[in-house]
Amino acid sequence: MAERPLVVLAGGTDFYPARVGRAIEEDVLDVTGIAGLRGIAAEADHWRIGAATTWTDVIEAELPPLFAGVKRAAREVGGVQIQNAGTVAGNICNASPAADGVPALLALEASVELRSQRGARILPLGEFLRGNRQTARGGDELVVAIRVPRRGEGSRSHFVKLGARRYLVISVVSVALRLDVDDAGRIAAAGIAIGACSAVPQRLPALEAALLGNPLKPGLGDVVEADHLAPLAPIDDIRGSANYRHDAALTLVKRGLDEMAAAA
Ligand SMILES: Cc1cc2nc3c(=O)[nH]c(=O)nc-3n(C[C@H](O)[C@H](O)[C@H](O)COP(=O)(O)OP(=O)(O)OC[C@H]3O[C@@H](n4cnc5c(N)ncnc54)[C@H](O)[C@@H]3O)c2cc1C
Repeated sequence: MAERPLVVLAGGTDFYPARVGRAIEEDVLDVTGIAGLRGIAAEADHWRIGAATTWTDVIEAELPPLFAGVKRAAREVGGVQIQNAGTVAGNICNASPAADGVPALLALEASVELRSQRGARILPLGEFLRGNRQTARGGDELVVAIRVPRRGEGSRSHFVKLGARRYLVISVVSVALRLDVDDAGRIAAAGIAIGACSAVPQRLPALEAALLGNPLKPGLGDVVEADHLAPLAPIDDIRGSANYRHDAALTLVKRGLDEMAAAA
């Protein structure tokens, strides 16, 4: 990659659909055979998801409740065939506004590990994603892993997706929620991210702040106010109007919090 332009290929589930009807003339680097890139490992202060790790690998891995939201997102990425081939890293590198993995990982404050002959660098996911289909990855850099900070046992997450039908759809809105709950059952930290309502999925810092100190009990969804969704900028498209998306995001974030409270 340092010597000449190479297009990275992982599961190919975004790569090939983007090239339908035209010959592939780029030189391609298939990373799926690099065993060291696959798998999820617990490091001292973070979990490391190798770049060739598929959604099925995520579903089948034994992981703490912190990952419940990522696992739910994994089960909703396409169908089983797509989950068997598609990778978590491919999902974030493709940088679609509707990528289900992105809000799920933003809520966990994930970062992206890039390597090149120049060295390694680690970027927070929110900095790695620059816009619709745009990332901060240099042409000579390979994403080798995604890092998820380890958290206490009181940390859990959730993911809620709305599409035109229950499964096998691109998200109209997706909501990822992480709550760190202290020994008294109160929210000590939160990460809330919304997908498909802006060029890059966004966190909702005002809602995260408003949740602090609240008990994880039924009625938690009532904390959410329309103003908390200010960072969103949904568009009208074939899958839904901006107004519909905004309304759906409000409903889904409340529902997600209520579901987390009910599960607790
Ligand atoms: C039928 C169908 C249904 C789908 N449903 C969903 C869905 O519900 N939700 C959803 O979010 N997505 C969905 N997708 C999109 C896709 O499956 C996911 O985004 C998947 O995670 C992509 O991973 P991949 O390994 O196949 O990526 P690839 O197609 O191999 O690559 C995607 C992009 O990332 C780059 N890339 C990949 N790996 C690296 C790396 N290590 N370093 C640098 N660049 C890299 C590639 O060059 C390419 O530009 C669907 C796709 C299909 C075909």
